[in-house]
Amino acid sequence: MGIAFADQEKLTTGAPAAAPASGVFIDIDLDTDGRQAGHVRIAHSPHHDAWGAEMIPIVSIRNGAGPTILIEAGNHGDEYEGQIALANLARTTDPRSIRGQIILLPAVNAPAVRAAQRCSPVDGLNFNRAFPGHPLGTLSQQIAHCLSATLMPRAQYFLDLHSGGSSLSILPSAIVETARDPAATAANFRAACAFGADTVVFVNNLGEPRTATATASRLGLVTVGTELRGGGGVDNAALAMCERGIRNILAHAGIAATGQAGASAPRVLSVAEAGAYHLAPKTGVLQHLVGLGQPVARDEPLALIHDPFAPFEPPLELRSQLSGVVFALRHPAGVAPGNCCAVIATEGAETAGLL
Ligand SMILES: [Zn+2]
Repeated sequence: MGIAFADQEKLTTGAPAAAPASGVFIDIDLDTDGRQAGHVRIAHSPHHDAWGAEMIPIVSIRNGAGPTILIEAGNHGDEYEGQIALANLARTTDPRSIRGQIILLPAVNAPAVRAAQRCSPVDGLNFNRAFPGHPLGTLSQQIAHCLSATLMPRAQYFLDLHSGGSSLSILPSAIVETARDPAATAANFRAACAFGADTVVFVNNLGEPRTATATASRLGLVTVGTELRGGGGVDNAALAMCERGIRNILAHAGIAATGQAGASAPRVLSVAEAGAYHLAPKTGVLQHLVGLGQPVARDEPLALIHDPFAPFEPPLELRSQLSGVVFALRHPAGVAPGNCCAVIATEGAETAGLL
């Protein structure tokens, strides 16, 4: 009989011996200068490959002593701008043009990237709810543990490149990780502004601690996230913003000499309460009445949900629970109860008690 995960936790945390072998191996030397590409290999033994490994691409660009930044994309496999941006950065960055180190994970959730899915097809987990992970956990938990235990502690800066994915379109923006320590939140805010997006958004994920950015911030890294449009495709304007923003963060961290011009004074928004999320109360066909970035008043209709099976019934009106700005809209028109149809951000951060 196998040992349940909770029992494994007890065994590993209660034992005086060394930490358990994790079966994770990085096949490049992160302490060597220059540009290297390799893999984080995680032993994986499915039906079709008894003694195989999951191969997660990793790139190190290093030039002597200096600050280190860890940048990941493909946390969700159906978010593409960051994956392209990191591949472009890996190809075009001359190590002599930087000081310190850039560690890139262009497809961190490799099984989900291959499948072009949000969640991992291997264990069904949302990688961004799998942190800090576990060395003896499922594949997603092992990848998360490699980041939180091995890669993040090497770095002072963390950049997590998300887009809206298949189900959402999101106003392209830099995301501020709110930390328990106000000084850390302020440092995250300064870095998000340095990214150079037109919009900077405080998102507290309703206190969710299992994300990559929450974990990096807890470990003391200056942390920035992004949301880069989405809808399951590649938006060229959002990709350009992403590539410009990465250069700006490298300059902000002191790794690159100069950045590229971005927005001088970004608009600051907050998504800080459950009322920001507008969920479908019924099954139907979603018709948006507003666009991304549009100001809306409380009680203003955001969308209609039509029921083609009840043609004489008027469509249900989804009204805004807040006054603010349209930050995210559901992309597919088909909805079921509980689906997130729209997210309304509020202006500023002070009003939400975040600064
Ligand atoms: Zn994402």
